[in-house]
Formats: sequence, structure tokens, C-alpha cells
Amino acid sequence: SRRFGSKPDLAAKIALRLGLAKPQPIVHAIDNVSLSIRRGEVVGLVGESGCGKSTLGRVIAGIIPPSEGQVIWQGRDRESLNPKERHAAALATQMIFQNPMAALNPRMSIEDIVSEAPRTHGLVPKGGRQDYVDRYLRLAGFDPTMKGRYPHQFSGGQRQRVNIARALAVQPDFLVCDESVAALDVSIQAQVINLFMELRERLDLTYLFVSHDLGVVEHISDRVAIMYLGRIVEEAPVEEVFLRSNHPYTQALLAEVPRIELTKRRFKAVEGELPSPLNPPNGCHFHPRCPFAMDRCRIEVPLKREVAPGHLSACHLNDQPTV
Ligand code: SF4
Ligand code: MG
Repeated sequence: SRRFGSKPDLAAKIALRLGLAKPQPIVHAIDNVSLSIRRGEVVGLVGESGCGKSTLGRVIAGIIPPSEGQVIWQGRDRESLNPKERHAAALATQMIFQNPMAALNPRMSIEDIVSEAPRTHGLVPKGGRQDYVDRYLRLAGFDPTMKGRYPHQFSGGQRQRVNIARALAVQPDFLVCDESVAALDVSIQAQVINLFMELRERLDLTYLFVSHDLGVVEHISDRVAIMYLGRIVEEAPVEEVFLRSNHPYTQALLAEVPRIELTKRRFKAVEGELPSPLNPPNGCHFHPRCPFAMDRCRIEVPLKREVAPGHLSACHLNDQPTV
């Protein structure tokens, strides 16, 4: 097997800080983030655009190294891997991006697109190229007779499925999906989400599903982490987040999702501008927009604490005496 070690329960465990040497418009700082992803789990990572969730996804996928901290991947610190192991880790973690066309070479047939990386990495058995391509096209919901076609002959949803086939063809066990359905029509979104769920069962995949859309995340995730300005402010099993969210920022996000049942402390939308991630407010980053902000919120960083089993929230309200 090109995977190393036994199969630990944890697919990835992240504890890191991603500093910025110089301002880079698309890379956002990540501040003391910790997150564990269990094997076979789907973790939804939610937040407004610019909060650092895409950056965190890229760090977890091994595309960007953290400036401080560790990504423990299948029991090993990613940075301590030797070149061969690093190569295996890179193949085992694939990313699916938002714009399906950007990642597809318009001059290559679907067959070439799907077989290129596995051939380079020696995964295709001699003389077995057709079967190999057919298998991954079928897994992504295609009739293999379509393999001679080119990306422009496909719809947006189909192109995204070509990307999925291509990612699967290097036999990953972990997919980082960064807004993978955001550019698709709602009906097509549902199809692609269903495909992800089906693939999870068939191929024993683990997912980090990065999205600004709580509705999408609710459908796919086992656990949800809510990110605000470089920090994870709440983390809980999906039903806990939707029925008993604790953090005022999560509650503000939830208020934007049309729902029948919503509990206490509900308020409309997330008010105010998202501050610059390069110069975030002191204390709780959310304090300028939080209707419950207290003096200490402007000074003291709230730490994540367990408010229910498996449910973490970083808000000073949880330290207040209840009357
Ligand atoms: Fe609001 Fe304070 Fe909680 Fe931050 S720590 S979310 S400002 S109440
Ligand atoms: Mg993004």
C-alpha cells in the first residue's frame, strides 16, 4: 500500500497559526486554530468570505504549510514526512475547488484529464488505462462512452463531476471541498452533494467541506466548525449547531438561513462589516458586531470550552453566572 502506518481513527488533527510575512490578498491569517477530523467523518467549515476558511482548507490539504503549529495527518506531523511520504500524503488529500472550468484543460479530453495524474504517479496498471478511466468516470456518475468529449461539451455540474473523477483517480482518502457546489444551480448542487455522500460510503472517504452556505453544510456534515476572522468560534455535531447553537456569531449566521424552528437569542443577519483579517479587533474578534458584547469582550480572547458533550464554543457569555 502506498499509504503508511496503520489506519488511526484520526484522519487529521490540526493545531496551528498561519502568520503572514507580508500582506497577501488571498491568504488570510489563521489564529490558534485547532480542529480534529476523524476518519470517515464529514466536517463542515463555515464562515463568511475572507474569514480564513479556504486558507485553513489549503493548510489541511498540505498546499500551504503553517508558519507555526502542526498538521497531524494520519498520526504523523506533515512537516516531518520524508519526500516519499509527503508525496503519498499529497495524493491522499485532494481538493475540489469552486470553479469547475478553471481546473480543466480545455484541450484535453475527459479521458486524458482523468488519467493524467494517475499515469504520472504509476497508479494505472499496464494496458489497463481504459478500465481505469471508466471506473472513475462511472464513480462520478458518467457513462464511460462520454470520455472522448471535451470540457466545453459539458454543463457546470458535469464539469464539477469531471473534477471529482479526476481527484478520485489518484485514490485519495481525504477530500477538501472548497465551495465545491457554490457556483452551481441549486438543483445541481443537490446532485453533486448526493454524489459526495455516495462516494463517502463507497470509497470510505473523509471530507472537510468548506462553505459559506450553512444550508449546504447542514446536508452533508456530521460535525460543523464555524470560523470567524481566523478563529474557530464554535464546533459541534451538526444537529447541535442547528438546534442549540451557542455562539452569537453562529446564531447570526443561522438567522440568515430560512428556518421554522430557531431558539433563543435570535437576531437578524450578521450586522456590520467584516473587519480586515489582517488587523482584527482585540479580544473577541466578533465584539464590534455582537449585540451581547461586554467590556471584557473587547480585551480578553474567549477560549473554546465545552458547553455540551462534543460542543465547543468560544464566548465569554458561557462564563457569566446564570440567574
Ligand atoms: Fe459576543 Fe463577547 Fe461572546 Fe464575543 S465573547 S461573541 S463579543 S458575548
Ligand atoms: Mg474562500
